[in-house]
Amino acid sequence: MMNESIYDQNQELQRKLDQLLKQARANEKKQELYETFGFEIIGASTPKQLRDLLLSQIVSRFQLLDVVLCLIDHHKDTERLFFDRDEEVRLQLENKLQILDTLKDAEIIQSLVNRPLLGVDALKKYPWMIANLKAKNQIRSAAFLPLLRSDRVIGALLMLSHDPHRYQEGVGTLFLQKLSAMTAVAVENCLNQQRLKEISYQDVLTQAYNRRYFDLRFKDEIARCVRWDDDLICMFLDVDYFKKINDTYGHQTGDLVLRRMVSLIKEQVRSCDIVARYGGEEFVVALPSTTLQAAHEIAERLRLAICSTPMSFLNKQFRVSVSIGMASLRGLLTAQQHDVDFICSTLLDSADKALYEAKEGGRNQVAVYVSRIL
Ligand code: GH3
Ligand code: MG
Ligand code: MG
Repeated sequence: MMNESIYDQNQELQRKLDQLLKQARANEKKQELYETFGFEIIGASTPKQLRDLLLSQIVSRFQLLDVVLCLIDHHKDTERLFFDRDEEVRLQLENKLQILDTLKDAEIIQSLVNRPLLGVDALKKYPWMIANLKAKNQIRSAAFLPLLRSDRVIGALLMLSHDPHRYQEGVGTLFLQKLSAMTAVAVENCLNQQRLKEISYQDVLTQAYNRRYFDLRFKDEIARCVRWDDDLICMFLDVDYFKKINDTYGHQTGDLVLRRMVSLIKEQVRSCDIVARYGGEEFVVALPSTTLQAAHEIAERLRLAICSTPMSFLNKQFRVSVSIGMASLRGLLTAQQHDVDFICSTLLDSADKALYEAKEGGRNQVAVYVSRIL
């Protein structure tokens, strides 16, 4: 009798021990999963990588139904930086990534708590976060994780499950807290890196790209167009008699004219074209996948827009004109292969020569480089 009872107790202990061991192993696995993912997001060096991890991979790795990331746009640049100007991706991820405007969405931002919410509470408290999700009717539990940096809420991550027991109030949140801390660091880090890039690639006065950026992108675009046998147009624009504008109206007015030039140029070209300030009052535009004829029409339209726009700064009214020189990649290429650096410099040189012709021809006109075999 006695032996039997000890035997039973032993069995029971053994069962409990097995259970504990199983639990410990499961926890170890879970920790590994969270840590690996955490390190990967911290290491993400581009918005694309971070988007992929936080909005896509997280779902399969953590076996979620879906996920929503919301970011508070404290510096009015989150959308631009996080999507790297890729409008298509922005639309694709519209329901998973919500960017909150500090003014328009002030009330929503106020309602974001700075502690995790588990269960169905988050869904009741923040219905707008899941409003556009396809699978919203299948959500049974959620983990709302605030993203905090220096005690300030910079956004939130909402992990969604179809399992009602997955996220429950009061059940261990340590892993989730670690994940949210790492997400906050990763997001901030990625945005700051993008900000730095922007500063080093932008012309401070006009907000156009600078020459450094142009040279980098130009090379990439040329390589791409050569590979796909596509044409590319390079356009140089130089303000006519700019020195006179400075001398007559002052340097500050001259600066404002340069800024106006950039906005007029940007109005006439596509967002995929590269507009850069190449030097003082000289701008360069690269138009990938464009024919010479189409580019010529754009250049004429641009020239007309500039000379017919009255400039009026500080009660002074005057008009400005530009001379434009352009050359096409196809006009330079022969059957012979040349390296990209050589093509870049020849194309720039050709557009510059055409610009010189436009100046010589009397300014306020467009000139096209007449092709010559390389
Ligand atoms: P052209 O029609 O032959 O191009 O004559 P231009 O007067 O435009 O050309 P020039 O090269 O003689 O003069 C360019 C002037 O642009 C001289 C320079 O002081 C001025 N400049 C260069 N950078 C800036 C700038 O950032 N701001 C202002 N306001 N002026 C600048
Ligand atoms: Mg000039
Ligand atoms: Mg010049």
